[in-house]
Amino acid sequence: MAALFDLTGRVAFVTGGGSGIGRRMAEALAAAGAAVVVAGRRTGPLAETAVTVQASGGRAAAVTADLGDLPSLDAVAVLAAEPFGPPDILVNAAGINLRQPAEDVTLESWEQTVAVQLSAPFFLARALVPAMRERGWGRVINIASLQSVRAMPNSMPYGAAKGGICQLTRAMAEAWSRHGITANAIAPGFFPTELTAPVFADASRAAEMAARTAIGRNGRLEDLDGPTVFLASRASDYVTGQTLFVDGGFTAK
Ligand code: NAP
Repeated sequence: MAALFDLTGRVAFVTGGGSGIGRRMAEALAAAGAAVVVAGRRTGPLAETAVTVQASGGRAAAVTADLGDLPSLDAVAVLAAEPFGPPDILVNAAGINLRQPAEDVTLESWEQTVAVQLSAPFFLARALVPAMRERGWGRVINIASLQSVRAMPNSMPYGAAKGGICQLTRAMAEAWSRHGITANAIAPGFFPTELTAPVFADASRAAEMAARTAIGRNGRLEDLDGPTVFLASRASDYVTGQTLFVDGGFTAK
């Protein structure tokens, strides 16, 4: 059974791998045997992820890139393949949430959110899929959200992009699964990261989010380890086009 979850010999490219959910997912993939390449804008946090993975005996490298710069993504995909060869696994975990009321959203802030959350996952996947297709195996894991299916205040661009990522995941699955490349999304509940720090800073708001789950608590980053390795490995060979809510039952209530 362990062989089904073994990622030895696989290469994973994890955007947003310098912090939060992306970092934890990169660490989980490395612990399962994958060589990981993490990407983001800040070099320091990416290097910290790489050092942590290496300290645990894994292989890791970093690519500094602004994924909101959509015309550069084909070049980013080339850089992603340099350290360990072409990625077999793409995790699209880079994201922002500007939390602007509708009247404050500008054309620029709308486009910034949608570029990182929705457009970059498509263009990066499209650039990396041909090499996966040649090998007849690949994994795309997108990051969805409670806001893929629930409305929250001051999050219209974010919610629109997160709704879109679920449908993009289905469309990717339709296009690529016959070639051995599955596409799925993980929809995290409410997890403590840089992105959610402003919300966690309000203890009553954090408690309210915990109370809305079936399990009765907010997420811990380690809750993502099993779902990540499952969707990245042979264990999920016949699972595609799905969004797996890792949300303590928030959306079940
Ligand atoms: P985070 O710690 O802030 O991680 C976001 C990452 O994205 C950062 O490492 C950031 O690195 C990178 N990033 C942002 N803009 C980028 C850009 N233009 N180019 C390249 N990298 C960029 O927050 P997180 O919570 O882990 O978020 C990860 C994903 O999970 C996001 O898609 C988020 O929407 C989603 N999510 C989070 C939660 C939660 O409760 N935390 C729940 C549901 C979904 P740089 O700043 O260095 O670029």
